[in-house]
Amino acid sequence: MIALSAIEKSFGANPVLRAIDLDIPEGQVTALIGPSGSGKSTLLRCANLLEVPQAGTLTLGETHLAFRPGHPPARRDVLAVRRQTGMVFQNFQLFPHRTVVENVMEGLVTVAKWPPAKARTRALDLLERVGLAHKAADWPASLSGGQQQRVAIARALAPSPRLLLCDEPTSALDPELAAEVVDVLAGLAGEGMTMLMATHDLRLARRVADTVVFLEAGTIVERGSPADLFGRPEDPRTRRFTRTLL
Ligand code: ADP
Ligand code: MG
Repeated sequence: MIALSAIEKSFGANPVLRAIDLDIPEGQVTALIGPSGSGKSTLLRCANLLEVPQAGTLTLGETHLAFRPGHPPARRDVLAVRRQTGMVFQNFQLFPHRTVVENVMEGLVTVAKWPPAKARTRALDLLERVGLAHKAADWPASLSGGQQQRVAIARALAPSPRLLLCDEPTSALDPELAAEVVDVLAGLAGEGMTMLMATHDLRLARRVADTVVFLEAGTIVERGSPADLFGRPEDPRTRRFTRTLL
């Protein structure tokens, strides 16, 4: 079970997340939608402790954290959360001076202390899964955006995370390149990967999400199946926002 409960996050005097409750059942995909500035990225970053909330709790497998102002989480808890989460960013964020396979190996070698040969074998397996084994020795800059994002997904999967976090994984891509990333994410969802993703890509949300959550001004306004949220939104704010996506 993965759960965020009663999460509060402010930056200075600016409250960005208010009383956020989010359960992500194992093996399911939750998509966060909402206007720019509504707190989607901050919520993803709270889930892997790139940001630390002021209040609330985070449960990730056996790890359970309660947040209080002035009490940063213990280092071992931060490491436990990081080990169980992988993150995919809008702009890929590959290491430009490492080859494709080295990008995928990097965390296994430097963080998890795997022997390089074993890390390389796992990295090549993951590249095979995202259809890029033939690019293993190439530089990231020589790949298309869609290919770079697939490498970033392979890298995020390398330590076998319990939860994959994706922050607008297709929004920097042209439609045909976005489609190959959607295919990879749909494949992972089909294999039972648990995911939390911020996205405005209707094709992605409709194809992979079990639940869609609409966030506005740091508050969850409405949640439901993609068919309900996109087809029959109940709240007028959801209706207004989802119309802008069509
Ligand atoms: P979204 O991803 O939905 O566009 P964000 O989570 O990026 O929204 O941002 C929500 C709000 O939090 C915005 O007002 C943004 O300016 C603010 N914010 C995000 N990160 C920081 C930060 N590190 N410092 C100060 N304010 C931030
Ligand atoms: Mg964002």
